[in-house]
Amino acid sequence: MLDVLKVRIYPNKEQELSLAKSFGCSRFVWNFYLNKTNTQYQDTGKRMTYCQMAKDLTQLKKLTDYEWLLFPTAAVLQQSLKNLETAFKNFFSKRTGFPKFKSKHSKQSIRFPESCSIKSGSLKLPKLGLVKASLSKSVNGKIKSVTVSKTSTDKYFAAILFETDKLATTKQGKISGIDLGLNSLVTVFDGETCYKVDPIKPTRKYAKRLRIRHKALSRKVKGSKNRRKAIKVVAKVNEKISNTRQDFLHKLSRKLVDDNQVIVAENLCVKGLARTKLAKSIHDAGFGMLLNFISYKLDREGGKFVQVDRFFPSTKLCSCCGHKNDLLNLSIREWICLNCQATHDRDENASRNLRAEGIRILLTLSEAEGLTNTAGHAEIQACGETVRLVSTCTKKRQCGLGVSPSIATAVRVSEKQESPATLR
Ligand SMILES: [Zn+2]
Repeated sequence: MLDVLKVRIYPNKEQELSLAKSFGCSRFVWNFYLNKTNTQYQDTGKRMTYCQMAKDLTQLKKLTDYEWLLFPTAAVLQQSLKNLETAFKNFFSKRTGFPKFKSKHSKQSIRFPESCSIKSGSLKLPKLGLVKASLSKSVNGKIKSVTVSKTSTDKYFAAILFETDKLATTKQGKISGIDLGLNSLVTVFDGETCYKVDPIKPTRKYAKRLRIRHKALSRKVKGSKNRRKAIKVVAKVNEKISNTRQDFLHKLSRKLVDDNQVIVAENLCVKGLARTKLAKSIHDAGFGMLLNFISYKLDREGGKFVQVDRFFPSTKLCSCCGHKNDLLNLSIREWICLNCQATHDRDENASRNLRAEGIRILLTLSEAEGLTNTAGHAEIQACGETVRLVSTCTKKRQCGLGVSPSIATAVRVSEKQESPATLR
C-alpha cells in the first residue's frame, strides 16, 4: 500500500533559488497549456491530450525564447501537464470546477516523480542535491514521488509518497456512531457510553488579531515593499488559524480511530452547508477535514468508515422505538418521544441512530458477501426491527464494497453484547 509523509524542509539559498525557478517553469507550463487547450477547444471543439501537450512541450523547449524551460528536469514539467490533464478529467466528471490559471502569489508546488531518496536524514532531490529535512518518522519503502511546496509564508514542505509493505493490521475495537454539530463538534456513542467533544473556534479566537493586521495592510500603498510585508503578516495569522484547526482535528481523529474499529458518520454535504448562513461556523469547525482524517486513518489501520446517507433522519428518529418526530427543529436540544415517552438529548439520540444504521449497513453488506454464517443470520433476525430502523437508500459506494471478516465478527459480537433493553 502507499503511504504519505509530509515533512518540513529547509533548503539553503542556492536551493531556494533553484526551487523558485522550477516553480516558475512548472507554473508557466500549466498556464501556457491551459490557455492553449482553451484556444484549441474554441477553434476545433477538441481539447489537447497529455501526449499532444508533452510532444508540443518538447518542441517548445527547442525555441530560443523558451530555452529557460530546460532548467528543471523534464519529468517535473511533464508532471505539471499530467496534473493539468487530471484537472480536466475531474472537471468533466463534475468533481471540480474548471481548471484555473496559477498565480505566483499563492502556494507553489512541484512534483518530482523519480530519483528521490533519503540520505543521512536529508532528502535528496534531482537538481537540488541534499535538502535538510526534519523527518518525523522513517520512510521504509520505495519512494514513488516527492511533492515540494512553498506556502505563502515562505515555508517549504515535502510530501513523500512511498510504498510500504506493512500490511494493515486487523483492528479490534468498538463500533461508534458520531454525530457532527456546531454546539458540540462530535457526539460519540460507542454502544455503552456517550460523550461529547466541544469545538475549538480558531477563526473566532484569532479574529481580533486578523482584523488589526488587515487594517494595517489596507493602509499600505499599493505595489510598495511595505505592502508586500504586510501581506506576509496577514498570511501568517491565517496560517496560524489553519494550523490550530488541523492540529486539533488530527488529535481528535487519532483518538477516535484508536478507540474504534468501525466509525459511522453522516455523509454531510459540506459544500451545500457552506452556502448557508452558518458557513463561517461550519468552515471553522472543519467537518469535511475531520471526516477525511478519520476515513484515511481508519483505512490505513484496517478499520472501516461507514457513511450514512445524508437523508437518513438521524435526528428525528427516536433511538428507543423508532418513532419519527417531524416537529423537531434546530433550536430544540432535548425532546420527549410521543410514542414511548423517552427523553432524548438531540445529539446523543442522533449518534445512537447513526450507530444502529451503520451496523445495519455492515450487516447487509456482509450478508451480500456471504460472510455471515447461519448463526450470525439468526442474530440479525433476533434484532429484527431495532437494527433495521428505517430502510434508507444507502449507496454501497459510500461505505466501500468490502467488509473484512474481522469487521463482520465485530458487528456480530457488538450485537450480542447489546441486551434488548439497550436497543429498545
Ligand atoms: Zn420513542
